[in-house]
Amino acid sequence: MSDEYILRAVEIIAGENGRKIMERLLLAHQGKSDEELAQELNMKVNDVRRILYELAKYGFVSYIRTTKGDSRWYNFYWYTDKSMSNKAIIQRIKEIIRILQERLEYEKSEAFYLCPNDNTRYTFEEAFENNFRCLSCGGELIEVDNNKIVSHLLELIRRLQTIVNEYEQSKHS
Ligand SMILES: [Zn+2]
Repeated sequence: MSDEYILRAVEIIAGENGRKIMERLLLAHQGKSDEELAQELNMKVNDVRRILYELAKYGFVSYIRTTKGDSRWYNFYWYTDKSMSNKAIIQRIKEIIRILQERLEYEKSEAFYLCPNDNTRYTFEEAFENNFRCLSCGGELIEVDNNKIVSHLLELIRRLQTIVNEYEQSKHS
């Protein structure tokens, strides 16, 4: 995946400042301390650290901890590379696929009803319990055709799965 692709994924997770930090780390081949990053980007060290921990949680960056002489203070050197970032992106995509699949199962397993006045959506059970009347306005509920949602979800899952498959094939070739 290109640097731009990686940076965009990081921006979604950690915002514009996360993107700036990631940009520096992708270029720095030996890693950087959080103080260095804060100075270069004119940011507060605490903000830089918070973002780095967030990115580390998702596997986008990692760190080495060192001590200066006999000091009891630790220095953190943060680093990343493309293969680490790609793996993190694929993990996020897999997580999104899992959520979409849950939603798909839900859409397929239920019949839905809609209030034409305020677009409130009800499951069959909810509609049945209220004699097919809307809880907020009393309007008569109509059955919804959710085939469009189902096919949209299927298409999204298919596209994301293609990215995962391509990645996994490239790992094995
Ligand atoms: Zn209503």
